[in-house]
Amino acid sequence: MDFDILIRHATVFDGTGADGYLGDVGIKAGLIAAIGDLRDATAAHEIDATGMVVCPGFIDAHTHVHSSIGRGFMHEDNLVRQGITTVVGGNCGSSGWPIGEHLDTVDRLGMKQNYAVLAGHHTIRRELFGADQARFLDPSEYKLMQGQVERAMDEGAFGVTLGYATRWEPSDEAFAFAEPAGKRDGIYASHIRSEAAHLLEAIGEILEVAQHADMRVQISHLKTLGPANWDKLDAVFCMIEEAVDRGLQVKADRYTYTASHGGSTNAVPRIAYQIKQERGSWDNLRDPDVVDMITEEVDKLYESYGGPEKLLFCSMREPRPEIEGKTAAQLAAEWGADLLDVGIRLEKMGGVSAIKMVMSEDNLRRILAHPLVGIGSDAGLQPDRGVQTHPRSYGTFPRVLAKYVREERVLTLPEAIYKMSGQHAEHFGITDRGLLGEGLVADVVVFDPWTVQDRAEFLDAHQYPDGIPYVIVNGKFAVKNGQMTPENHGRALRKTDM
Ligand SMILES: [Zn+2]
Repeated sequence: MDFDILIRHATVFDGTGADGYLGDVGIKAGLIAAIGDLRDATAAHEIDATGMVVCPGFIDAHTHVHSSIGRGFMHEDNLVRQGITTVVGGNCGSSGWPIGEHLDTVDRLGMKQNYAVLAGHHTIRRELFGADQARFLDPSEYKLMQGQVERAMDEGAFGVTLGYATRWEPSDEAFAFAEPAGKRDGIYASHIRSEAAHLLEAIGEILEVAQHADMRVQISHLKTLGPANWDKLDAVFCMIEEAVDRGLQVKADRYTYTASHGGSTNAVPRIAYQIKQERGSWDNLRDPDVVDMITEEVDKLYESYGGPEKLLFCSMREPRPEIEGKTAAQLAAEWGADLLDVGIRLEKMGGVSAIKMVMSEDNLRRILAHPLVGIGSDAGLQPDRGVQTHPRSYGTFPRVLAKYVREERVLTLPEAIYKMSGQHAEHFGITDRGLLGEGLVADVVVFDPWTVQDRAEFLDAHQYPDGIPYVIVNGKFAVKNGQMTPENHGRALRKTDM
C-alpha cells in the first residue's frame, strides 16, 4: 500500500487562500505524503471525494476548551464535527495551570482534536496572589507574574491571554504581563477591556501592547456590542489597519452569530443584586425608596440592548413553556407586568437562559470579510445535552461555509478556508499544520460545499452540522462517513516543539 488514506478526485484548497484545483491527497504515517495526480496509488482506506472539498483541518482560534480539561469531559465531539482539528484554549484571561501538567493531561487522556494553550492572566494572578488578587500590583509583583509567564512559555504555551476580570487593571500590568511572552515569540490574545461604550479606547490599548511588547496580538471575538456602538466599526478598522501599516502584527477573530447567550442576570441591572442581598428578597426591589432608581436602571439596561424585544428567554434545563422563546417585551405584555417585574419573576423562577440579540448582522458580515479577521467559535466542549447552550458550540465553522460563503457570498471559499486554517497557523506560530502541504501533519477535512450546513439554533443548540463526512486528525479518522470514531487522536501542541 502506498498510503494509509487516499482522498481521490477532490477539489484541493491548501489553506493559503489560493484557489482550489482537482487532485488527490495521500496520507501516510500521520503526514500528508503526496498531493496531486495519484491515480495509480493504493491505500488502506480510499475516499471518493468527487464534488467535495479537501482542505486543512480547521483551527479554532478562540475556545474555552481549557475549562474542560481535568474536569472529566475531554472527549466531546461538538468541535471536531465542525471540521475543527486544532483548538486554541486558554482565553479571556483563563487557562489551565501549570501549563506543563495541563498539556500532559491532554496527552495522557487524549482529545478529539489537537489542543494549543495560552497562559491566562487571571489564572497566574490567582496562583500568585490567591483570593487577594483584586487589587493593584506593585512592580515587584509584576516581576513574579513575568516569571510565571516565562515558565508557561518554557512548558509549551503559545502565548498569553488577558481578559480584564476586574476591569481596572492598569495597562502597565497588561504590558508587563505580555512582555516575556513577546520575547519568546509568543502571541497575546485579549478579550479587550470594552466591546461597547469604550470599544475604541480598548482597541487602542491592545495596539499599545503590540507596540510596547513588539509582539503578535489577537483581538478576541471582535464585536460592536449594543446598537449605540454599531457605528464604531469604521473607526475600529481604521485603527487596526493603521497599526498594521506601521508594522504591528494585529489580527482578530469572530464567531458567526449576532447574539450572546447568558443567564437571567441579563434581565436585571447589576445594582438589583446588591439590593436583593442587602434586603433579603427580590420583592424588596419594589421598596418605595429604591423602586424609581431601579426602574431607571432597568430602562437603561434595555436601552443598551436596543429595546426589550432584543432579549429572548429559554429554559436552561427543565422546560418552562411560559417563557420559551419569548422576549422581555412579550412577557411584559402577557403577564401585564413592567420590565422590572419580568426580571424579578425570572430571577425567582431560576434556571432561565437569556439570549441577547445585541450585535449587528451588517457589522458581522463586514467583520468576517475583513482580511485581518479569522474564525474563532468562543465555544467550549459540550458535555451535557440537557443544558441549553450557544449554537456556536456546534455551528460556527459550517455556518461560515453555508451562510457566509454559499448563500450570501460575503467570503469566497478560498478566503473562508484561509480564515479557518492558514491564517491562524501563521499568526499563532503553529508551524506544522494549518496548510495542506507535503510533509505537514495530516489534519484534514473533507466537506461538500453544496450541502455543508450548520443545524444548531438558539433554542435548539445541540445539533451537529451536515455535509462534513471526514475529519482526519494526525493522519487518523476522527469522523468517518459522517460518524465519530471512538478513538481520541488529538494531542497537545507545544510551542517549544515548533
Ligand atoms: Zn471573551
